[in-house]
Amino acid sequence: MEIQVKELSKIYGTQENQVVALNRASLTIHQGDFISIMGPSGSGKSTLLHLISGLDLPTSGSVTYGSTNIHQGSDRNLSAFRRQKIGFIFQQFHLLPVLTARENILMPLLLDKKQADETYLQELACLLGLESRLTHLPHELSGGQQQRVAIARALIARPDIIFADEPTGNLDTKSGSQVMEMLCRIQENMSKTLVVITHDPRIAGMARRRFTIVDGELSEVTVS
Ligand code: ADP
Ligand code: MG
Repeated sequence: MEIQVKELSKIYGTQENQVVALNRASLTIHQGDFISIMGPSGSGKSTLLHLISGLDLPTSGSVTYGSTNIHQGSDRNLSAFRRQKIGFIFQQFHLLPVLTARENILMPLLLDKKQADETYLQELACLLGLESRLTHLPHELSGGQQQRVAIARALIARPDIIFADEPTGNLDTKSGSQVMEMLCRIQENMSKTLVVITHDPRIAGMARRRFTIVDGELSEVTVS
């Protein structure tokens, strides 16, 4: 499914407190794209990702998946659409502390009243090196393991698109590289669309299409 982002803007606050977090960003994301978006802190990276993934509403502009403008339907439709089509990976993992790794991974299915797919769960656990960690609580896991649980959770409903907002930002270099390698492999082998936000040039360089964002202005880097 193709995603069309047109003239997307987000302005926070009013009058003298106004912050233009995103200024008329446009891009087209094709099925199977691997895109990185790099920019300094406060440049509008998270704002852009939240708008594209339907986590937040734009001030103006549109986001269209296939022929569906995601900000035009009801909240309920948007939530269902997000759970089925989009996997989101956060810098802070956002695992529920009282649930085991397994329960965290299965949460999106539970919310959609779907059966756990045991075979696929095991496949993901194996792919992400989590086989012996599924009964652990988040605080019993390392940062890298917690992020890998979050990746499995993002994949369990078999979404086409994965958005990752600084997925290695809270990890040391070694676990960060591991997490990125796994994301790259998943993108390629499962033919997912992957959009990764980062301020690490090495991670940005792994993507086939690269964008930068400065003061809310998005532009594509042409690789010669
Ligand atoms: P990044 O992810 O690149 O660090 P953000 O997208 O989080 O940047 O923020 C972009 C700009 O918008 C920043 O100046 C930030 O302070 C501002 N901003 C983000 N969220 C809010 C909010 N809820 N209210 C007001 N300003 C915000
Ligand atoms: Mg951010």
